[in-house]
Formats: sequence, structure tokens, C-alpha cells
Amino acid sequence: MVRILDLEIYAKENNIPIMEKDGIEFLLDYIKKNNIRNMLEIGAAIGYSSIRMCLVNENVNVTTVERDDIRYEEAIKNINLFNLEDRIKIYHCDAFELCLEDKYDLIFIDAAKSQYIKFFEKFKNNLSDSGVIVSDNLNFHGLTHTKEEIKSRNVRGIVRKLNNYIDFLKNNNEFITKFYDIGDGISISKRSN
Ligand code: SAH
Ligand code: MG
Repeated sequence: MVRILDLEIYAKENNIPIMEKDGIEFLLDYIKKNNIRNMLEIGAAIGYSSIRMCLVNENVNVTTVERDDIRYEEAIKNINLFNLEDRIKIYHCDAFELCLEDKYDLIFIDAAKSQYIKFFEKFKNNLSDSGVIVSDNLNFHGLTHTKEEIKSRNVRGIVRKLNNYIDFLKNNNEFITKFYDIGDGISISKRSN
């Protein structure tokens, strides 16, 4: 029998950036307390977070997407091992190629960190009236708040884009966002009407 712990070990050994422990607990608690049923996730990796969200209770259904071949195959395998193939629908493509008609109670953005504004703008159209958009990794291991110079040009670029996203959320008139210093930094955005 496969266990959640096995997925966590696999992720660690293979450098798969699954949600941090406190972060996932926070998200699961939010799903439970707010009776979230239909979720859309951007960035499945090996299926860890979507499986955990489904295990909250049997009303939860997740649609998710993963572009990487190996991670997608691994996610399919894990979803089947947990017998969740009826409740997790996973697409194998780039999220920007995805055209979804459905509306979701919760949209979880956890894919390429430099594209968060674009993900937000695209998928807010799939949000139900009272739905929320949750974003992960806003701290980026503390780097979005650091005053020190970041050596890697690539990392510097990601951090700049995440900070742009944080500003975008703070200045957004359509949505009100709360920021939580939990896990690797999480935000929850709600329509402001
Ligand atoms: N939510 C997962 C972790 C996701 S890691 C968990 O917590 O268990 C982020 C994943 O997003 C990576 O596997 C990466 O391949 C994928 N990804 C990044 N940009 C993407 C895009 N534009 N479309 C689809 N998948 C993407
Ligand atoms: Mg993440």
C-alpha cells in the first residue's frame, strides 16, 4: 500500500517542490472549513497536493494540469494507487493551452512562479462567484523579502516577478487578498463585491 509519506519521500529524493508541511495543512483546513468541493489546480507535479485535497472528504473533486512528462506519469500512477481516478482529472499540457468551461470554488496556483499574473488573469474566468484563488510560494524560501543581493540571475528574475505578483494582488480592485506567512507563503484572494 502506498502512503502519503512515500510521496513525500519520493518528492524529497527527486527534488519535486511539493507544498511544505504547514502550507498543505493550512490549505486542507481551509477546504474543510469552507466546504470547498470543486477545485482547479495549476501545477500537479506528482499529484501530491491534489491527492491530499481529495482525502479531506469525498465531496472534493480536483481538476489539475501538469506539463512535464515524467511528473505527469508519476501523478497518474499515484492517483491510481489512491483510487482517486474518478475524483482527480489531470490534463497533460501547458496550463496556457487549457480551455475550461467549468467554474471552481477554489483555484490553486502552484506552477511556474514567473507566470503567476498570467495564470491569475486567465483562470479568474473559471472562478465561481464566491470562489477564491490561492497562490503558493510567495516567500520563495524567504527570497521575496530579502534585502541581500541574489547571486543567480535566474532566481533574481523569479523573485522580481513574484514581487510584481504580490504588488498586483495588493493593488487589485477586483479582488481582496490576504497574505499568510505559512509554509512557503500563501495568499487567498476573494472577489471584492
Ligand atoms: N502542487 C504540487 C506541486 C507543484 S510544483 C504539490 O504541492 O504537490 C509545480 C509544477 O508545475 C511542476 O511540476 C511544473 O512542471 C508545473 N508547471 C509549471 N508551469 C506549468 C505550466 N505552464 N503548465 C503546466 N504545468 C506547469
Ligand atoms: Mg508550491
